[in-house]
Formats: sequence, structure tokens, C-alpha cells
Amino acid sequence: MKKLISEEQLRDGVCTMAEQISSTVGDRPLTVIGVLTGSIVLLADLIRVLKMPLRVGFIQASSYRGGVERGELELDVAILPDIVDREVLVVDDIFDTGHTLDEVVTMIRSMKPRLLHTAVLLRKLEKQEVEICPDFTAFEIPDEFVVGYGLDYHDQYRNLPYVAVLEMADLESHNLVEPGNPKA
Ligand code: 5GP
Ligand code: MG
Repeated sequence: MKKLISEEQLRDGVCTMAEQISSTVGDRPLTVIGVLTGSIVLLADLIRVLKMPLRVGFIQASSYRGGVERGELELDVAILPDIVDREVLVVDDIFDTGHTLDEVVTMIRSMKPRLLHTAVLLRKLEKQEVEICPDFTAFEIPDEFVVGYGLDYHDQYRNLPYVAVLEMADLESHNLVEPGNPKA
């Protein structure tokens, strides 16, 4: 496991992003929608440094079926609060190809928010396949598979307090290499 972003860097990056969000939103009430499950750690840290009146909701998006390849995206809005005519900030862990955020934004827009902003912790450089960009990004990273601070591999590693690049040795030592696919 190669540490990429330390706890201190994460704190600074999240605070800087919070300042940018605050200067856009000001004192207006904000509904922060976390994209489950990867956004939970960022969401918890971010909302504690935002000062405007704020409520929290979630949308479930599943695209990576456990591993590192992108699968068909499923969106579940069952626990999404009412956002009609509200100012909304969608928060996700990482913008890679952008398909997840693109589809989440399309879904949220169909629910008629008054204003919609997007924020991500990480953005992979040169991977974008969609037209939209996140309005707020804390860190740009190279194209490597990362875990920690909410991001998982097979639902593991979300609890790491830092962001790390997953290496082959990590998979072997945790028996996480998929059966029948030793290079997964
Ligand atoms: P996109 O749709 O932008 O290609 O991918 C976004 C989603 O894929 C993220 O919400 C995240 O769940 C997953 N993802 C993309 N890159 C990584 C990565 O490097 N590590 C982990 N753990 N998940 C990733
Ligand atoms: Mg995700």
C-alpha cells in the first residue's frame, strides 16, 4: 500500500474545498447529498466545516461491482429527501470517467432543485468521458486505483484515514484476489 494523500493533507484539502463551497453558497440553506457509500467520510468531514443551515441526504450508486472494473450503474433514490426548489450539493468520493456523477446529476436535476452543485474528493486526470466536470475538487490524482477515506476495494479499506494506492501485494496478503482471476 503506497500512501498518496496523508491525513493532514486531507484535512487541508477538505477545508479549502469547504471555503470554495461557502463562497459560492454563502448563508443560503443547502441540502448536501452524499453518493453512497464512498462519500461518507468526506461528507462527515465536509459538513462539519460548512457553516450555512444544512441538511443531509443520500443517493445510492453502485457501479464498481466490488472490483476495479466499471459495471452498469444502478441508482437508488429511495432514501433521497425532498429537494424540489432547494439548493443542492452532490458529494462523491471520486470522479474517474465521470459517468457516475453525470448520471447522478441527471437524476437529481429531474427532481427540480433550484440550484445544483457538485463536489468530489478526488479527480483522476485524463480519464473523463463525459461533458460535466465537478464544480469543486479537493485533489487531482494520477490514474491509479486508490482506497481509504471512504474508498473501497471489495468493501474493504474504507476506514483508512488516508488515501493509498492499492498494490498487488495488498490483494495477495488479504486474500482479496478474485477466484479465477488472479490479476483482479
Ligand atoms: P466514474 O463513474 O467517474 O468512472 O467512477 C466513479 C465511481 O467509481 C466512484 O464513485 C467510485 O465508487 C469508483 N471508483 C473510480 N475510481 C476508483 C478508485 O481508484 N478507487 C476506488 N475505490 N473506487 C473508484
Ligand atoms: Mg462510488
